[in-house]
Amino acid sequence: MSINRILISVAVVLLFSACTGESDDRSPANVILLIGDGMDEQQITMARNYIYGIDGSFEMEKFGYRGAAKVRAVREDNPAIAEYVGDSASGATALATGMLTSKGRIATTAGTDRDIETIVEISQHAGLATALVTTASLTDATPAAFIAHVNARSCQGPDDMAGGSGRLSYMLPCLNDLKRNGGRGSIAEQLVDSNIDLMFGAGMKYFSQAVDSDRGLTVVDSANAQGYRVITKLAELTAPVGKGKVLGLFGPSTLATEWLGENGRTAEPIKPDKQGDPIFPQAFSCVPNSKHEGVPSLALMTKKALTLLNENNSKGFFLMVEGASIDRQAHFRNPCGEIGEVQGFDRAVAVAQAFAQAHPHTLVIVTADHGQAGQIVPLPETYRSLATFYGKPQYSLGFYALLTTQEGGVMAVNYATNSASASSRGVHTGVDVPVFIDGLQAGGLPGLIRQTDIFRLMLDHLGLQDHSN
Ligand SMILES: [Zn+2]
Repeated sequence: MSINRILISVAVVLLFSACTGESDDRSPANVILLIGDGMDEQQITMARNYIYGIDGSFEMEKFGYRGAAKVRAVREDNPAIAEYVGDSASGATALATGMLTSKGRIATTAGTDRDIETIVEISQHAGLATALVTTASLTDATPAAFIAHVNARSCQGPDDMAGGSGRLSYMLPCLNDLKRNGGRGSIAEQLVDSNIDLMFGAGMKYFSQAVDSDRGLTVVDSANAQGYRVITKLAELTAPVGKGKVLGLFGPSTLATEWLGENGRTAEPIKPDKQGDPIFPQAFSCVPNSKHEGVPSLALMTKKALTLLNENNSKGFFLMVEGASIDRQAHFRNPCGEIGEVQGFDRAVAVAQAFAQAHPHTLVIVTADHGQAGQIVPLPETYRSLATFYGKPQYSLGFYALLTTQEGGVMAVNYATNSASASSRGVHTGVDVPVFIDGLQAGGLPGLIRQTDIFRLMLDHLGLQDHSN
């Protein structure tokens, strides 16, 4: 047993005793894992500065434990070699299975394409209830890696199995996984075959694809046949949904973000004037996104999932909640989109924490899957003074935005991972990601852990065994 493993075991004992206290309470152990996709410390700081000001804090930042997890993927062509920048597929696989894999893979091993048992499957075998909640399509890499097994994250629906555009190495075909070839099918099919109790998110464009074109049956039909109640509207989520399995599909793909930039503004490439001096953009603020009206918030979906999971909760549950668009909006270099999603995610964290306070054996872990591109950088005046010092123009080479924060400051943000062309998207970064744990006694867990350690923490808390490793 490694020192890290021992320390984590100690921490779990401390955590459990902190949760159980002196009582002989036999209430079941539950785990709520909240993943802010792409939510590294830069993205949290940016959102905190904007919303609460430099002295403010999010609910997740009030948790007793705050540490960091090393992000590591492995190379597909040589799984013994580390890859330092991961994606949601490799990150979620590490969290869901305790094993490292290559980018794009959904709970399968790098190089050898072997299925890896996930915490949802282990929980199901032990009779626990399970649920997945996301602001993205449920077929997206993060929720998918908690139950599906496929070599490429792009195989979201039956029509997607032939592979993507070929531009990205992980948009590979998954023809071996087609059901007619003896496989488990696309991610959407695997989700509805999974027997997960609750799934709330989006993805109708994948679930409406045909599984049997001769008979005109879709993945939604398959879900109904397997006992899922399929709901699609906010009103159906807020109304009593009754007992049984529920598949909530509240949009065709990713749900609309809570915020956007004033007049739709995002970060922009800086262009020089005729003298070669940079023209910095004007500052702007964030505003509510009217397209978000009628869309269930992540907090609401989390609250409903917890209410339903808590009914007849005899053996405990595992719930994964993903704030997906922190990452997505960072790809679009849209700081207001990102900031609003961090706030929406933190509201879901508050819901989880309130549940944990009322239900003592509930472990709440908040983390991210990988880093993103948003960076807080100097204001134009700093670049101008640098230009004077160096005798030539100075400016951010990426996309740059100036935001007027709610406390009245101006914050400069840039996205500079790749060439400044409006049609391209920014890419991930390789920074460690934050970990917040509610109820953990300080000093128990090392400050720096690995993503795979989070899998073990969760399993230990639920009293479950990992069979595959
Ligand atoms: Zn991403």
